[in-house]
Amino acid sequence: MSRTKSVELFERSRLSIPGGVNSPVRAFKSVGMNPLFIQRASGSKIHDADGNEYIDYVGSWGPMILGHAHPEVAGAVTEAIAQGTSFGAPTEREVQLAEMVKAAVPSVDLLRFVNSGNEASQGALRVARGFTGRDKIVKFEGCYHGSVDALLVKAGSGATTLGVPDSAGVPASFVKTTLLAEFNNLQSVIDQIEEHSGEVAAVLLEAIPGNMGVVAPELAFLQGLRSLCDREGIVLIFDEVMTGFRVALGGAQSLFEITPDLSIFGKIIGAGFPVGAYGGRSDIMEQVAPLGPVYQAGTLSGNPVAMAAGIATLGRLQEPDFYAVLAERSRNLMEGLQSSAKEAGIPMQVTVFGGMMGMFFSDKPVRNYQEALATDSDVFVRFFRGMLDAGIYLAPSPFEALFMSSAHSDDDVAKTQDAARKVLTNL
Ligand SMILES: *Cc1c(COP(=O)(O)O)cnc(C)c1O
Repeated sequence: MSRTKSVELFERSRLSIPGGVNSPVRAFKSVGMNPLFIQRASGSKIHDADGNEYIDYVGSWGPMILGHAHPEVAGAVTEAIAQGTSFGAPTEREVQLAEMVKAAVPSVDLLRFVNSGNEASQGALRVARGFTGRDKIVKFEGCYHGSVDALLVKAGSGATTLGVPDSAGVPASFVKTTLLAEFNNLQSVIDQIEEHSGEVAAVLLEAIPGNMGVVAPELAFLQGLRSLCDREGIVLIFDEVMTGFRVALGGAQSLFEITPDLSIFGKIIGAGFPVGAYGGRSDIMEQVAPLGPVYQAGTLSGNPVAMAAGIATLGRLQEPDFYAVLAERSRNLMEGLQSSAKEAGIPMQVTVFGGMMGMFFSDKPVRNYQEALATDSDVFVRFFRGMLDAGIYLAPSPFEALFMSSAHSDDDVAKTQDAARKVLTNL
């Protein structure tokens, strides 16, 4: 499999773009390779600059739930483009997409569109702080909410310490208000809230974390967070940028029947265009300008082309059995992978929620970030490379999810399982 064009493009790219990429995980650093440059994609298949075809389980990191270049989405986008690409004024499409999100996610009374998941978490935190008049927030080790200053914090030193910045260029003072807790560990949250009594504005989490690999939440943990937040007047924020419209039409909150106060969306609602949104309880969202004192704005927010893509995609997701079929195919794939691993004597854990799948090379289930870090990354790297050579495009990191789309066929799944069996046997 030749990759010379990708190598050439990467060399050229590095002269103009830091590290040759516009988002770090694309660089393939954690698998010790050069990135593939993508030329085009269609359905479940992605094609690199050298003309190699792969079955794609990245799906642009989640948005492409209908597969690439879906004709209906492409048609809606083309129609919107012909009518003008941005007006800086409200349009009916924004209203329509907002109504579709509300219909699917009943905890959302009002929502504001922005241009990325990153911006959505920033907006949600600001409104939670404005609403409560408090500054501190609780976030979980290993949960990712975009490259927002105050959220670029992981625990170096355990669950009950104050956060330290995870990136150069983030002033220590910016993360002073970020308190860290351990996922699936309610006591670690209670400890933080007691220590900072009356100061915590929000508890923010990925209800099903997908950025430390896919980690299953314990129901009692989520329920505990809900009652804790109710008792303390804290805004509970579910980051559903990845899980929204991915694990079920109503997101993770519908699977676990927990009603957050605010939710954050992105990825699928923009169907591959830059869209994010935050929304929830009307008394909280009424704080947002121009209704209230919390300022947040965007020149291109609610862009008509992006809204058209979102509307076309969300329309498709309403089909009866859409998620049942997606989940069945996802489970089938992952069970196949797991049994091949078992035959090869390699311990593997798999997690599936709707069209979101995770694997860890580990002999026990992973419940939090520290346990994710303890899994075998070296085996993943060898698995990843073998799969890539066999024409299967997985996320280039052991701590990322795999995504199924409705364009993936049973034949795609069978080919992926065959490839995995060979790779795992020869690992
Ligand atoms: C991708 C992601 C984000 C960030 O979204 P961007 O559009 O990349 O800014 C935030 N939260 C979660 C859970 C994500 O998976």
